[in-house]
Amino acid sequence: MASESPILPNYVDGAWRQVDGVASVELPDPATNAVLARVPLSPDGVVDTAVRAARTALPGWSAVPVAERARCLARFRAKLEEAAGDLARTIVRENGKTLAEAEGSVRRGLEAAEFALSAPTLLQGSALRNVAPGVDVESMRVPVGVVAGITPFNFPVMVPLWMAPLALVCGNSFILKPSERAALSAQAIARLFVECGLPAGAFGLVHGAAATASALVAHPGVDAIAFVGSAPAAKEVYTRAAAGGKRVLALAGAKNHLLVLPDADLDRTVPAILSSAFGSAGERCLAASVVVAVDPVGDELVRRLAEKVRSLRLGAGGDAESEMGPLIRGEHRARVEEWIRRGEAEGAQIAARGVIPPGSPGNFLAPVLFDRVRPEMAVAQEEIFGPVLCVVRSPSLGDAIDVANRSRFGNAASIFTADGRSAREFTERIEAGMVGVNIGVPAPPAFFPFVGWKGSVYGDLAATGRESVLFYTRPKTVVSRWFAR
Ligand code: NAD
Repeated sequence: MASESPILPNYVDGAWRQVDGVASVELPDPATNAVLARVPLSPDGVVDTAVRAARTALPGWSAVPVAERARCLARFRAKLEEAAGDLARTIVRENGKTLAEAEGSVRRGLEAAEFALSAPTLLQGSALRNVAPGVDVESMRVPVGVVAGITPFNFPVMVPLWMAPLALVCGNSFILKPSERAALSAQAIARLFVECGLPAGAFGLVHGAAATASALVAHPGVDAIAFVGSAPAAKEVYTRAAAGGKRVLALAGAKNHLLVLPDADLDRTVPAILSSAFGSAGERCLAASVVVAVDPVGDELVRRLAEKVRSLRLGAGGDAESEMGPLIRGEHRARVEEWIRRGEAEGAQIAARGVIPPGSPGNFLAPVLFDRVRPEMAVAQEEIFGPVLCVVRSPSLGDAIDVANRSRFGNAASIFTADGRSAREFTERIEAGMVGVNIGVPAPPAFFPFVGWKGSVYGDLAATGRESVLFYTRPKTVVSRWFAR
């Protein structure tokens, strides 16, 4: 019963705290719509308390030697590994992914936590003696200050772990505002941070929705905002944070194109496309959204894809037989259904539609394969974020690359081919931050930069890899001269 569901506490100033008397939203299991918990919509006062505590913790925490900070994060990483199974099951319950997908995303998060352990090496600066007679220069990386992380529902463990371990090991304080649609995973991660021995205030967890996130963005005590979410929210956060003089990196939406050339090995290409498009029910920023089939591969490719789409097994993420889980909310399913109607109205042909097992109670949506999509159609341009795959037919590799490059997004793109020259032309010309060759989901590991181009990002640098170390630190350059006494 909704009224009996617990309201999640925040973790602020070194203590778990309930926020009394504020509005809250239900957190249902997308596979059943049974309410699991309630998420408080934390007001400005709570945000202010968390930011003040983070500022208070900052001088002490940033002065802790980096090797000691790394040891603290190593304890976190060990706890994370112990908790990996529970975390994956929590993701399944609140997000709807299959268990295998959830486990994969936890492994990616673990990798990000491991990357943070290299901080004593990553934070090393540069020095040059005698730039002028007797003058030395030393440039070092120092913390930015208080960092707020605002994260989406679709990777509720991995995305917070791109941010928090690295921000903390670099000597910052960090406040997480997780998605109100996947807050249980954040609760579990916060417990692990609490146990790893950080000083009070250095890590905070503040629940809420857009208004709570906006309060963090506006707060003068926050120095940097790490954001991952939809394009409109990313643009708003970027604009407001930058206007307030804050450092901000806002990763946004996507419309990823997969090119298939006639020489592609279809036995391997078709499973890769299917898992990219329909894995996590299409709720992934690296999901295949448009397949550009270069003549004459289209008919055979569509025939094979259609056969598989019709037989995809839908079911709750915890069911070992399930190949695709539900969408996050009924409202989101309704939006995706509206996109499918719009595609049909624009003249796209439904080549295949999957089947929902009768009597499924959750937010399941039968996957759809559209054929004969034209690049200018809205279904080929806008992010749908659901199990809908569009096939565009194209006469040549050059034209197919142009189709992909006309997208206002540039998160990821892949090519499937047996020809090295074609692959090379593609990797040279494609305008996307993450590029695959015979790979359906070209997600770089955490020690490489994860970031899109064009409308898929607002800001500079990257969410992971060495560029993210630059985001969580700022340079301080000392020019010194010593006189004889
Ligand atoms: P969302 O934009 O609805 O929410 C993301 C976070 O921002 C949540 O914590 C939410 O509470 C907060 N928020 C929402 N509106 C806000 C506003 N106006 N101001 C400040 N904060 C606000 O996104 P979502 O539906 O949770 O996640 C899915 C989206 O995230 C998709 O568009 C997907 O492509 C994108 N995404 C991108 C990447 C990437 O790497 N580029 C990775 C994961 C998800």
